[in-house]
Order: sequence, then C-alpha cells, then structure tokens
Amino acid sequence: MSKHNTRIAIGIIVGVCLIPALFFWPKGRVDIDGGYREVMGTFARVVAVASDSGIARKSIGAAFAELQRVDDLMSSYKSDSEISNINRNAYEAAVRVSEPTFEVLERAVYFSELSKGAFDITIGPLVDLWRSAAEANSVPTKAELQKARSKVGCEKLVLDSNEMSVRFIVDDMRLDLGGIAKGYAIDRAIEAMQKCGTIGGMVDVGGDIRCFGTPPRGKNQWLIGLQDPNKPQDWIGTSKPSLVLKLTDTAIATSGGYRRFAMIGGKKHSHIINTKTGYGSTGPASVTIISKTAADADALATAVSVMGAEKGLGLIEQTPQAEAILVTSLPECELIKTSGAEKYIK
Ligand code: AMP
Ligand code: MG
Repeated sequence: MSKHNTRIAIGIIVGVCLIPALFFWPKGRVDIDGGYREVMGTFARVVAVASDSGIARKSIGAAFAELQRVDDLMSSYKSDSEISNINRNAYEAAVRVSEPTFEVLERAVYFSELSKGAFDITIGPLVDLWRSAAEANSVPTKAELQKARSKVGCEKLVLDSNEMSVRFIVDDMRLDLGGIAKGYAIDRAIEAMQKCGTIGGMVDVGGDIRCFGTPPRGKNQWLIGLQDPNKPQDWIGTSKPSLVLKLTDTAIATSGGYRRFAMIGGKKHSHIINTKTGYGSTGPASVTIISKTAADADALATAVSVMGAEKGLGLIEQTPQAEAILVTSLPECELIKTSGAEKYIK
C-alpha cells in the first residue's frame, strides 16, 4: 500500500475533463452528451460516441430507460418496487423476484461475506431508525438500536436460486439496496448502450461512473475529475477537481459520510451505517473504488467506508481487479491508495 501525505483530497466525481486532441477523429463519428436527468434520487449523465447521431441518441435513451427500470425494481422508497414487495411479504412466505433483482441480491450477499458483514443489504431497520431519529432530532436509544440490530444480518436472508425467491427468517427485516443498486443500474445502462451499437460511452449516476470504448472527440482516454470531500460543494460538484483519473473500460464509485448525513443535536451521523455498532460510520471522508463493474465498485466503496482505512485497504489489496483511493477526514485529509491505484491517476 502506498501512502501520500499530501493534502490533496478526492471525493465526488464531476465528469469528463478535456485534454488536447491526441488522435485521429474519423469523419462521421459523433459524440453526444445526453446531459443530466434526475433518477435514483440523484442526477445521472450519459455520454455516447457512435458512428452516427441516430445511434448515439438511441443509446442515450436506452441507458436512461435502463437506469429508470432498475430504480423501479429496486428502490425501497417506491411502494410498488420488488424490494418493497419483499420487505412487506418475505417473512410470511418466500417472494419470487425478477432475474435482475435476484442477480443483485446474490452479488450483495457475496460482498457481505467478503467484507465480513460490513456491507449488508439487510441494513434497512437501522436505516429507518436513523431516518426517524433525524426527523425527531434525537439519537436512538440503546434499546431501539439493539432491536433494529437484531433484524440485520445476511445470515437471516434466504435466497433460493432455483425458485429465484427471497425469504426472511426474522419478522420486520428490511432490505436496502442503496449501497449497490446505483452501480448495478450503471452496468445495465452500459450494456444497453453497447447493444445499440455505440463504440464508446459513459454513464454517471451521482458520481458513480462507468465508461467503455472510444472516448469523446479530443480525448485519448476517459478522464474523470474527483473533488475534495473536505471542501463544500455545489449540488453537482462542478468545482475544480483535485485529482484526475484516466479510465478505459472501467468503473469507479465513491462513498463517504461527508455529503449525506443526518444532523442530530448538532452532530453529523453518516448515512452509511456500521453494522457492528448500529451507528453511522466514522470511516474515511471519502472512499473511491476502481473496478471492472460499477456494481462491484459501489458495494466495495460502501464496505470500505464501514471497515475504515486499514482493514478496508487490506480487503481491496486482496481483491483482484480492484483499487482504492481514500481521503481521511479533517484535519489530516490524508490521501491513501492501494498499490495499483497510481496507474489510474493522471
Ligand atoms: P453508498 O452511497 O453507495 O455508500 O450507499 C449508501 C447507502 O447504502 C445508504 O444510504 C443506505 O441506503 C445503504 N447502507 C448504509 N449502510 C450500509 C451498509 N453497512 N451496508 C450496505 N448498505 C448500506
Ligand atoms: Mg455503494
């Protein structure tokens, strides 16, 4: 693990930076920026590179449609989603789900085991408890925390791959895919773009990004700017990036308690919850994971936020095709990376 004591810090990803045209741009090729649309409780942006504008526009439409489809299936805020249906009924009887939902659940359980429970999609009762606590502006009692924690744990979740069904073995369990669904949706959106015949593309959902193939005109790689998590930002993070990553057929995801938190009694409580304590994670200000798929990057970023710098980086060092860039909180603002992360930094 290499360690930099610079005060450079990273965080939310803002987009694709320009560099001088370094390669030939064939006649007829187009790059279209589909702009920002609201989806999954945040803003999503899609960029397509194609041999004509019809293909590019079609692929942008297909990507946004796919993001919406995954949100409709997996949001716990939507009462008609498959996840809400599981949350209402999976204790009484096993609930059958669609292939995409089952695929995410299996992947989530894999990351739960890999992170020894730091990442856990059965976190729902604790998420709900802290949401109510924020509304009431008072921290939960020990008894409330203990009760919620007794409903959390992937070992209480039964997935049947033959039936493609889900069952809870404890009453009042609740799934929350907030730590992985964005990444999964990005992967599906990229796949939809490729099916449309694009030769390059980028999908960004709230700063989690995956790109593939040919970058836009004037660039020889997809360049992604990362922001300082310890500095205030505007709604979309458009200030000057502190660090630029160069990516090819790669995904990145950033997690951290620095932007989304509950303020209770003047104290910040991260939206990422430590499954062991039941309290908001006190991990690094930001954790950026670079990986092949956005779902993996998303789940690992949340896991490392809970595990903290030392254990989290240890996990990523052992995980093939994954790298991490962390920034610790104020006052240190230390930048820490895994051994293979340097090759992605411009
Ligand atoms: P992310 O922004 O990807 O780190 O995901 C954070 C979201 O994941 C939270 O808003 C919760 O919905 C959910 N979450 C919170 N704590 C955990 C955890 N320990 N494991 C899995 N998901 C979590
Ligand atoms: Mg995540």
